[in-house]
Amino acid sequence: MSLDHTAPERALSSPAAPGAGRYAPSPSGDLHLGNLRTALLAWLMARTTGRAFHLRIEDLDRVQEGAAQRQLADLEALGVDWDGPVLVQSERQDAYDDAVARLREAGLVYECYCTRREIQEASSAPHGAPGAYPGTCRNLTDAQREQRRAQRPAALRLRAQVTRWTVQDRWAGQHTGEVDDVVLVRNDGRPAYNLAVVVDDAHQGVDQVVRGDDLLASAPRQAHLAHLLGLPPVEYAHVPLALNRDGKRLAKRDGAVTLPQLRAAGVSPEQVGRMIAGSIPLPPLRTPDGPCLPHTAAQMLEVFDPDRISHRPWTVLDPMMEGTCGAC
Ligand code: GLU
Repeated sequence: MSLDHTAPERALSSPAAPGAGRYAPSPSGDLHLGNLRTALLAWLMARTTGRAFHLRIEDLDRVQEGAAQRQLADLEALGVDWDGPVLVQSERQDAYDDAVARLREAGLVYECYCTRREIQEASSAPHGAPGAYPGTCRNLTDAQREQRRAQRPAALRLRAQVTRWTVQDRWAGQHTGEVDDVVLVRNDGRPAYNLAVVVDDAHQGVDQVVRGDDLLASAPRQAHLAHLLGLPPVEYAHVPLALNRDGKRLAKRDGAVTLPQLRAAGVSPEQVGRMIAGSIPLPPLRTPDGPCLPHTAAQMLEVFDPDRISHRPWTVLDPMMEGTCGAC
């Protein structure tokens, strides 16, 4: 079952339109080197394929005061530019309400009263897929709903029409993954990430999603939801994450890993740019003074080749030492 498409969304993503890439950070703190690398790759992929590039602040969850502004400033310091205004999710309630209303009309929404713990217990039962919503509230009777509603505010879930869905990933190829009944609206009334991402990508005309590969597992769910909303599919490119010296996902506690921290320690944005260029890895630019690793987004674009990027995680051994360019 699929819903009618609204005219504006279709117009933005028609085959005649050039399409767009995007970067969509959550403003929960400063961007670290791994985030900056993903943002640069998303920008490079969009620009190298003639696409527009959009930014979106995903502030429906945890927000740190001032973080969104600092994230934009850090991207600018590396030469990342974007087209049009920055989209802010907390200002898009009407669009999410509209999408839920359309799904509801098609009979694709139900109330869920489960606690996190109940879901964990049920999904770790031998027959359940780990982590997936086991469908506890999918087929309750009206009387059961009435009773549960009195105990707990309801979240809204999608009545998914499939259990698996295949997406196209630039590097992972055809990726088939599990689809469960994702939360559309949380039980505090706020739109959920999977809904917002799908609605906003279509609204911004995004047809190329480059992001960290921790989100590869979410792509089939999001693509199925987009399909049910009648929105066009996107091409994904999930890029490996940055790791610390212990092989764990890079985090703030790993020392100086954000642009402001590195700047305070004497590492310039140019050095950070070269460090990231080296990790992709990009070849040196020829300059009048000899070969030198690119350090701005525009310089990186001159030597970027999507078929030659590393598919392995980037292990950041010592950010303080990596910023120097061996070539110049
Ligand atoms: N806001 C998410 C994050 O910062 C990214 C979501 C996405 O790219 O789809 O991890």
